[in-house]
Amino acid sequence: MSDGRERMRELLRLEGFGPRSIGCELTESDYDNVLDAMSRYAAEAVAAEREVTRGLLKVYDRETCTHEETHRGGALWTICDGCGRNWADDQGGFQPYVDPPEVAAARRSIEGGGAVAARKSDAERRTPQDSKK
Ligand SMILES: [Zn+2]
Repeated sequence: MSDGRERMRELLRLEGFGPRSIGCELTESDYDNVLDAMSRYAAEAVAAEREVTRGLLKVYDRETCTHEETHRGGALWTICDGCGRNWADDQGGFQPYVDPPEVAAARRSIEGGGAVAARKSDAERRTPQDSKK
């Protein structure tokens, strides 16, 4: 795609590479073909990484209790029916499950524009999380 080509051109330009600096005389059209091939390869690599991440998240979700069902134990405790974890009211009480930042980033990377976009939106986000309701 030409978006990929333009991004590849930009990355190579930042590294000081252009159609005249890779040891042979390339026409602009040849250079575009090289950039297209590189961006196709990058897209395939990203798709393969997404599949790996998707599989990893599937395992994570299967192995992680999100504390959906809880019950009260005595006057002080909230106890998870799923995993048995407990929270004392006098020590902050029940805390709903929140994905660790790395897992949240992995989810964003397979949903949208890939890991680069996820990293960008992480940088834009940077707000303290207050999960009190
Ligand atoms: Zn649990």
